[in-house]
Amino acid sequence: MKSTEYLLATVRQVPADVEIVSHRLMLRAGMIRQLASGIYNWLPTGLRVLNKVENIVRDEMNRAGAQEVLMPSVQPAEIWRESGRWDFFGPELLRFKDRHERDFCLGPTHEEVITTLINNEIQSYRQLPANFYQMQWKFRDEIRPRFGVMRCREFLMKDAYSFDASRQGMEQSYQVMYDAYCSAFRRLGLDFVAVAADSGAIGGSVSNEFHVLADSGEDGIGINTEAGFAANVEMIDLPPSGAQSSQPNKTLAVVDTPGVRSIADLCECLSIPASKTLKTLLVRGDAGPVALLLRGDHELNQLKAANLPGIATPLQMENVETIAEATGSEVGSIGPVGLEIPIIADYSTRAMSDFVCGANQPDRHLTGVNWQRDLPEPEFADLRKAVDGDPCPNDPSLPLSVKRGIEVGHVFQLGTKYSEAFDATCIDSAGDSVIMWMGCYGIGVSRIVAAAIEQNHDESGIIWPEPIAPFLVCIVPINFQQSDNVAQVSLKIHDELAKAGIEVLLDDRDDRPGVKFADMDLIGIPHRLVVSDRGIAKGQIEYKRRGTDDVELLPAEGIVDTLRSRINRHG
Ligand code: ATP
Ligand code: MG
Repeated sequence: MKSTEYLLATVRQVPADVEIVSHRLMLRAGMIRQLASGIYNWLPTGLRVLNKVENIVRDEMNRAGAQEVLMPSVQPAEIWRESGRWDFFGPELLRFKDRHERDFCLGPTHEEVITTLINNEIQSYRQLPANFYQMQWKFRDEIRPRFGVMRCREFLMKDAYSFDASRQGMEQSYQVMYDAYCSAFRRLGLDFVAVAADSGAIGGSVSNEFHVLADSGEDGIGINTEAGFAANVEMIDLPPSGAQSSQPNKTLAVVDTPGVRSIADLCECLSIPASKTLKTLLVRGDAGPVALLLRGDHELNQLKAANLPGIATPLQMENVETIAEATGSEVGSIGPVGLEIPIIADYSTRAMSDFVCGANQPDRHLTGVNWQRDLPEPEFADLRKAVDGDPCPNDPSLPLSVKRGIEVGHVFQLGTKYSEAFDATCIDSAGDSVIMWMGCYGIGVSRIVAAAIEQNHDESGIIWPEPIAPFLVCIVPINFQQSDNVAQVSLKIHDELAKAGIEVLLDDRDDRPGVKFADMDLIGIPHRLVVSDRGIAKGQIEYKRRGTDDVELLPAEGIVDTLRSRINRHG
């Protein structure tokens, strides 16, 4: 490929609201362009990478014995009503009507479709186990699309669904997929971890997520390698530590805190650490609002809260009107002292003393607050997400370290949730009709492109792992337009590489070398050759591997073979 015949589309500037490095680099490297919020065009360079990720995932699915199918992205409402998810899925499900006023949605996932499809195709245990997968664009009307293709509305997913005649069979199919995932992520060159996870809106019981570790990750992952433990922080139980609060030292006081709306504001206003503050959140309960109390530096775990008796599932935050009615105040200055609604406090708040909380008066807080003296001890429960240093559930004497993760894959044992809803049965070996056992397995194919960049970049741009690089080799000629020699040698190497099946980009633009080097580094092509008159005169070609600083001079003679031996050394 010659860059004069290719839509390189590299740019220097990106919009100011671009927050993370992969989003910035995908725009700058000419990989994607936004069409609407969370909806992207894939330009040639982006699509080359996406196709490579897709093919590696496809290959691993095929090796694991799964069969590729393709299901429609437009799905009729009936099957979603039958599974009960038409209402449960909420606004992430994009619904619309056809010309006959029939309800449809854009598929956010395909459990309903596959179960109705396979129910008609499979009758006997002899046809099982079976696993079907597809590569399909999903649509989820995400509340806050951001980070480019990392959290967007239309994205490419590989989804697979296994069918078995027994629970044991399902568990085996699950293990096969789990192993295939590990192998796919390894081949993609990703540094990943498999963690215990919640099964969310998809349903089922056992589930694992696969996370790529990166600071920009939206999920917290609690890890202790020594104890062999890794789980999403949402899933980590935090029992009471037994620590008691110390004796009060301060008297209760009301202080003015004008303009304070958050814990960060409060800490700045009073010059105190967040761990000395108590935050109060009002959520919907079965009989009116319930106040949840957390240490200011802790985060609410919505799953744990929603699972408490008397609290609405899924968890719902109360609105400003209800908050005003229950507390007489507004978000930013509410607190538990004198509050006459049910209160549940996280275990860790029990050990707090002389703490600061909202005074239930606008722009005012209470300082020197102590349990028993100023307010009765409330009910305590496990309400928060795990943080660095919390005890590891496998071995409480070991601390967890909490890292950020990007979820790139998710495997679930669904059990019979969908097969029961659709009465998907088969005949077992005894001739009885049994409900099929299902598993479902998703990989965020387009998200992986962004996740790989989060893990592989430097200040100059992307550093692709070879297996997913858009091109393996780039040739940068110096004075291509002016020197026949340079043009000839460059073209010859280009043609030979192309013939050998090695994807190559020849930058034959009439630009300064610096511009070309910058673009090739930005795009992240693993192997770079520089062809110049000076080199040719000495029978040499300059070689550099992206991500290293060393420039080598290689003999021009046999350069294609030399390159071939250097490619795939790490792949
Ligand atoms: P998340 O917690 O990130 O919203 P999810 O639990 O909703 O993910 P699944 O339903 O398990 O995701 O979907 C399978 C995979 O699809 C995820 O592991 C993720 O890699 C990818 N994915 C999900 N939502 C998005 C999105 N909005 N944009 C890009 N990829 C996504
Ligand atoms: Mg989601």
